[in-house]
Amino acid sequence: MTNQKGPIGLSQLEEAKRALDVPLFAGLNGDADVSFEFFPPKSEKMEKTLWDSVITLEPLNPRFVSVTYGAGGSTRERTHATVARIASETNIPAAAHLTCVDASKAEIAEVAEAYWEAGIRHIVALRGDPPAEGQVFVPHPEGYASAAELVAGLKAIAPFEISVAAYPETHPDADCPQTDLDNLKRKLDAGASRAITQFFFTAEAFFKFQDAALKAGIDAELVPGILPVSNVAQTRKFAGMCGAEIPAWMNDLFEGLDDHPAARQLIAATVAAELCRKLYAGGVRQFHFYTLNRAELSYAICHLLGKRPVGSRQEKAA
Ligand SMILES: Cc1cc2nc3c(=O)[nH]c(=O)nc-3n(C[C@H](O)[C@H](O)[C@H](O)COP(=O)(O)OP(=O)(O)OC[C@H]3O[C@@H](n4cnc5c(N)ncnc54)[C@H](O)[C@@H]3O)c2cc1C
Repeated sequence: MTNQKGPIGLSQLEEAKRALDVPLFAGLNGDADVSFEFFPPKSEKMEKTLWDSVITLEPLNPRFVSVTYGAGGSTRERTHATVARIASETNIPAAAHLTCVDASKAEIAEVAEAYWEAGIRHIVALRGDPPAEGQVFVPHPEGYASAAELVAGLKAIAPFEISVAAYPETHPDADCPQTDLDNLKRKLDAGASRAITQFFFTAEAFFKFQDAALKAGIDAELVPGILPVSNVAQTRKFAGMCGAEIPAWMNDLFEGLDDHPAARQLIAATVAAELCRKLYAGGVRQFHFYTLNRAELSYAICHLLGKRPVGSRQEKAA
């Protein structure tokens, strides 16, 4: 693990200096680990888009790909089917997201056991959100009240690898950043091995969070969640619900581009690649991409970071 810990080291200083002295993306050796997140498709057409994306991204040799779990378990079967297909038809380790919403501990055990039987060893364990926007989360009477409880419950079922969520700009339900960090520590102490962050748009937000986490005694891997934004209005709506801030400059960047989808894509890649480059200069070597089931932006950013395809699908399968 190479995320920067403690005071900035000589190699990081060198890296930061180099980032200023030479073209930003020159000479990166592709030593970053990447993972990709997808959501379960609702239609055959969406299934094809998702699958094309998985196949495009597979040669970048991701550490894992993960598949989200819809509100209130609404995608239970589709999440399972998607994760199982990735596990059986590709060489990428597949992770399934799982939430506590509207499910008893027994129901969650059933889902988790089915994953274990299907060979899925990695769960992204989450509390989840209430079914309707603006509601307060109320645990199922026989369910788990938080992600920390879910992590402990899953570990009691099988020795899953578990990732959890983290919030550089603090989860909206938390009283303060410290409470949120205490909660993150509980999730890791309960058996999670890494935290993947909610999306954010300034490298400073991540570095400050990383420092605060270290001070709170958290030394597990913190993986920045990168959302390449090509639709700022849609992102604004989602950001409001999850405590992420969209800087004013980002609104300005996308202004007047409603009828220019290709330009929006180019700007999305530029902005996200710059964020990744700054994180890389600060020592970050793990990136998790929210792909929204489209490969191009994530592929382009990985390419800029020096990632290159390793072997063909056929070679790997052989
Ligand atoms: C990488 C990532 C992937 C995600 N994938 C999905 C998905 O697939 N499906 C989905 O529905 N949602 C997903 N989400 C969203 C997530 O479910 C919501 O953000 C949800 O509101 C919180 O989930 P959590 O696991 O962080 O909850 P928790 O860690 O339980 O925290 C929820 C809130 O409660 C507070 N809290 C918890 N326990 C305590 C305590 N004992 N005392 C005081 N405060 C406490 C925390 O500080 C926090 O504010 C994802 C988020 C991320 C970052």
